[in-house]
Amino acid sequence: MLLSVSGLPVYEIEHIARMFYRDLLVREGVARPKPGDVLEPTTRHREAVLCDGLIAVRAGRRRILAALRTPQGAFVQTMPRPEEKELEFALCRLLYGLLCSRTGSRPPWGVLTGVRPVRLVHELWEKGADDASVTSHFTGRCLVTPQKTALALATAHAQQPVIARLPRRSCSLYIGIPFCPSRCSYCSFVSRTIGREQALVQPYLDKLCTEVEHTVKIIRELGLRLCTVYIGGGTPTAISAAQLRQLMGTVRRCVDLASLEEYTVEAGRPDCTDEEKLAVLLEYGATRISINPQTFSDEVLAAIGRRHTAQAILDCYATARRVGHKNINMDLIAGLPRDTVEGFERSLRQTISLGPENITVHTLTLKRASNLVIEHARDEYEDVAAMVEKNRLLPEAGYAPYYLYRQKGTLQNLENTGFTKPGFAGLYNIYIMEELHTIFSTGAGGSTKLKAPGGDRIERIFNYKYPAEYIAGFDTILERKKRIGEFYGRYLDPETSC
Ligand code: SF4
Repeated sequence: MLLSVSGLPVYEIEHIARMFYRDLLVREGVARPKPGDVLEPTTRHREAVLCDGLIAVRAGRRRILAALRTPQGAFVQTMPRPEEKELEFALCRLLYGLLCSRTGSRPPWGVLTGVRPVRLVHELWEKGADDASVTSHFTGRCLVTPQKTALALATAHAQQPVIARLPRRSCSLYIGIPFCPSRCSYCSFVSRTIGREQALVQPYLDKLCTEVEHTVKIIRELGLRLCTVYIGGGTPTAISAAQLRQLMGTVRRCVDLASLEEYTVEAGRPDCTDEEKLAVLLEYGATRISINPQTFSDEVLAAIGRRHTAQAILDCYATARRVGHKNINMDLIAGLPRDTVEGFERSLRQTISLGPENITVHTLTLKRASNLVIEHARDEYEDVAAMVEKNRLLPEAGYAPYYLYRQKGTLQNLENTGFTKPGFAGLYNIYIMEELHTIFSTGAGGSTKLKAPGGDRIERIFNYKYPAEYIAGFDTILERKKRIGEFYGRYLDPETSC
């Protein structure tokens, strides 16, 4: 399929088309259509013709004429004094409607293409909307289904008390371990296979500890309140128990653990997470861990390149409970290769029966860097919406949605949703997904997201991507952190401490 656009913002339009056609080709600013093209762009009018010429939009001086030609006939809509954003939005709605009728598919988030649909609920509330107006905005204007609208609203309601009590000068700290026991086929992260990169692990860890100390010192000097610490990856438990002690010992030395709201460590994979490591996490102050089955099907585990069985996940979970972990998250993924709707439901029921405090259901995301895209360019993912629909089992089992986000490249443009038992919402997840405060990121592949206190301004500081680059360029990483002080210097009033 060819999408051709001239003189118009293309990003959102392309995104809508990609929900229906993953192999979409995009061409911008076509000046001379070739035989076979259906576009005749002019410079007198801003004009776009999309998808086999079935949509044409023209911006005149005062009006837009948006014509949609379908097999049933033409639809024309006019708008006075069009703003470019409105033009783009109208195009998106038109294109969405056309492609729904043409393909028979109806992506449930409508034309809401953003990563954070729940943010829109908060924004509408801030403007004075009540739940009924939010619902009509989502379903009427954005063409979101009533089910997804209700999910976004429920999630926003769960977040409200967390947002209300967040201190103005708060922040969180992320610590990245970019090593895993093996590479999953769907992974697009920078993570390295630990067996092959063993020589890098200790030097990496030494630098990482230095960066953590340096960063916490900056946080203290700025008078910020550190609310949560999150050690993620990769797979943090891929490093040895002694190395975990070194890293978490550094955190314990420089952070007042008693004042933290939450301290999470991802113990993602059972093939590298043993009793000793689980005990270390507890001993060094972690209050929440994540053990991530992704699926309880041995066949699917093998298909995604995991070298462990479903039984190993059950054993790991039982060990974590035995050593004393009281707050455990488990991740599942809908849409994995070789999985079925029934298989996904079995995994979900199995997870629920274990009773973890949080269950997070992701939808498979296909990114260019993943082996799955490289090796398996195929279309066996139609069932993914039916899998995600099984999430309704979670509220029935006492879990409520508390954070929700989407990623580009997610199958059928579906969402990832974190569910929680009452009182166990993972705070770091809410803070990062709703961009509520600064997240200081340490380690390879990390990016610090500076958020202005009381404002919307966001600036990023990037670390090097891969462990070897991180070690070699470490001085530059510390140098870049000077921007943190400069950023806060513009927003914090030293006299009033706010
Ligand atoms: S465990 Fe996570 S980070 Fe590691 S390879 Fe698998 S998907 Fe990637």
